[in-house]
Amino acid sequence: MIAEIIVDVAAHPIDRPFDYLVPERFQPLIEPGMRVKVPFGPRKVLGFVVGTKERTDMERSRLKPVHELMDIVPVLNEEMLKLAKWMKDETLCFEIDALQVMIPSALRAKYEKRFVLTGELSEIAAPLRPHFERKPFLRAQEAEPLFSLLKKELDRGTISAETDISQQTAVKKARMITIESSEEALEAIPIRANAHQQLKLREFMKAHAGSTIESAELQRQAGVTLPTVTALLEKGAGTLKVTETYRSPEMMTEAGNVKPLELTNEQAIAYRSIRESIGTEKTFLLHGVTGSGKTEIYLQTIDRVLADGKEAIMLVPEISLTPQMTLRFKERFGDQVAVLHSGLSAGEKYDEWRRIQRGEVKVAVGARSAVFAPFRNLGIIILDEEHESSYKQDDAPRYHARDVALWRSRYYRCPVVLGSATPSLESYARAQKGVYELLVLDRRAKNQPLPEVRIVDMRDELRNGNRSMFSVELAEAIREKLEKNEQIVLFLNKRGYSSFVLCRDCGTVMECPHCDISLTYHRAKEHMKCHYCGFEAQVPDLCPECGSEHIRFFGTGTQKVEEEIAKLFAGARVLRMDVDTTRQKGAHERILTAFGEGKADILLGTQMIAKGLDFPNITLVGVLSADTTLHLPDFRASEKTFQLLTQVSGRAGRDALPGTVYVQSYTPEHYAITLAKDQSYEPFYLQEMAVRRQNGYPPYYYVVNIQFTHEDLMAAADYADQTVKFLQQNLSPGTVIIGPSASLIARVNDRYRYQCLIKYKKEPKLTETLHQLIRIHRSEWIRRGATLSIDKNPSAVM
Ligand code: ADP
Ligand code: ZN
Ligand code: ZN
Repeated sequence: MIAEIIVDVAAHPIDRPFDYLVPERFQPLIEPGMRVKVPFGPRKVLGFVVGTKERTDMERSRLKPVHELMDIVPVLNEEMLKLAKWMKDETLCFEIDALQVMIPSALRAKYEKRFVLTGELSEIAAPLRPHFERKPFLRAQEAEPLFSLLKKELDRGTISAETDISQQTAVKKARMITIESSEEALEAIPIRANAHQQLKLREFMKAHAGSTIESAELQRQAGVTLPTVTALLEKGAGTLKVTETYRSPEMMTEAGNVKPLELTNEQAIAYRSIRESIGTEKTFLLHGVTGSGKTEIYLQTIDRVLADGKEAIMLVPEISLTPQMTLRFKERFGDQVAVLHSGLSAGEKYDEWRRIQRGEVKVAVGARSAVFAPFRNLGIIILDEEHESSYKQDDAPRYHARDVALWRSRYYRCPVVLGSATPSLESYARAQKGVYELLVLDRRAKNQPLPEVRIVDMRDELRNGNRSMFSVELAEAIREKLEKNEQIVLFLNKRGYSSFVLCRDCGTVMECPHCDISLTYHRAKEHMKCHYCGFEAQVPDLCPECGSEHIRFFGTGTQKVEEEIAKLFAGARVLRMDVDTTRQKGAHERILTAFGEGKADILLGTQMIAKGLDFPNITLVGVLSADTTLHLPDFRASEKTFQLLTQVSGRAGRDALPGTVYVQSYTPEHYAITLAKDQSYEPFYLQEMAVRRQNGYPPYYYVVNIQFTHEDLMAAADYADQTVKFLQQNLSPGTVIIGPSASLIARVNDRYRYQCLIKYKKEPKLTETLHQLIRIHRSEWIRRGATLSIDKNPSAVM
């Protein structure tokens, strides 16, 4: 038997399966989708089995044997293996990268495999019996000689294959209490008349006789402490059982008992179109203003899909994967849903993945990589906030979750729903052409008016002598809301206020010695740090250029604003949410919960707060500087600004109280700002499309960004030059190649960076040419210390 194996050797010029001999002892078990260790040159490397066959063209004597099985059951199914092949061509990655990205990271680490006895062994499996008599499981290494027997028992279900992920978090134990089911028996328990706590608990137990509840939850609901519970259990009021739960932290929420809302007319129309397409591979673009009830449509469509016995994937950007969002899904679908968010440890993520793979859950909610959720009978895939650039992975494999979703939709014949208040130009253009079906929600679900948006010209403020980052108007509005005890969200773009260190005498800015970028000042530790390579240094006492003592630094943006708030609005309680305050696991949630509970008046933050905030008491939103995204050297700068402003505005007045939004800007007449004021998507779309057409950018043209790095400046430039010549010779005359040029940040981590851009409308030779480029890279340039990265449809071209 021969196995075709994709090996994990990135430097090899050829990216295709290699043939290996399967030793007899592995033959009963080996299947496509399993991982193996195989000899490759002098080393043993990891590989994925992608096929098995009887014959090979290779000489028998040169064929090497598979060394070890890493899996006992496949980690990837046939669909995933096909998907990986497609990703390889589509994103120009190595097949191994595509395969690796589909499995949970815990499986890439060291772990133990074993066979666990779960039933009665059959007669022929007698040789296995002694192993299980000694202990309830059999380690994979010991099992090797018995594989063919094991395979039979695995198929019969008397043995199951388990994987022990080394635990980063301890296994979570749940203390489950089953309350005595007879009310009379509970009443008969002797309790002293002055034991008020016990009496109280007994009343609660009588009302819930026979039910099972987690101990902590029982204490909370009954309003008693653990000793009281223990005392009553000892008297026979119930039984305690400690069970091992999955590590999933939010398993015990109110499970699946929240009823669907009655849909508005607009919602009903959209819902019906989607429902009727179940079983087809249609793609919808659901364009609904913020608060129009898109999420409710998702929930009800998924409900429908589950009723058909199928499964659903719900993708959201990581930053909108808030506890609120998660709760809505848990309330509706209970323990049928797995939530994959970045707060989970590798072990927890693995558990959730297993629940999906085993078919124990029907819905997966998660960020980008959840698009690979290993369902086998997909009924729908939904991407909320489909315009978000986080759906595109920055490093190899540089896939876009939307493209993977569309591929899987063709495989399963199931619909895809792309939802957004501000669709990407690409998607909206496709909807205009009829490639996607457009569904529109023009109104907010509870019919609240959209918030009033006021644009403040900061140039006037400056002319009037106001040097503060708060305009007079915004400051007044804040004071008014503070008086009324309403809540305020202040939004500052991360790149907005720099936090660099500057010499006031000669103007020198402290830069990273390894990267061409200024160092960021961190007030908490009084030092400077490079956000690209991690370099850290103390702030110098004297300017390294001119020796002056006049070194001046600015606090990070949000810190600086926080200080100014303290000065301007004495007594206001502020919560700050930015990279510094959310480093710890769960910090993000804690801040949001505190704000939701009214523990602060002002929530101040970066991009992070633009999404998913749905609190009724927010009536004022302030955008301190709308210009910062607008002037980035990227063709999507206007689109991103429009999206951001629309998102942020959508946070105000979501409930009964009306909302107002202040947008401060030095270029208030820019169409991305004026049109965001009324959430005028269509006019923005038309205007921006005209700009894109004129400059030859997507969606009129496709772009591919190619970047080269090298320690040596000349080598990097030389590689870029040669590549541009190569592309010009091999691509069609209609294709435009821009560059080479130095990247915006020309050096990172002591490596010089060059790039070039391919723009094309139709380029039949693209894939072949780029593959050839990769081959040249792998056979020549890797050795010379260069890196090459090719990004099709990049999310930014800076
Ligand atoms: P979106 O996802 O479009 O921003 P949501 O689904 O979050 O909108 O809905 C906004 C608010 O309106 C939520 O508080 C939601 O509970 C409420 N809502 C949605 N649909 C309805 C409906 N049909 N009836 C009443 N309230 C609704
Ligand atoms: Zn100086
Ligand atoms: Zn650096």
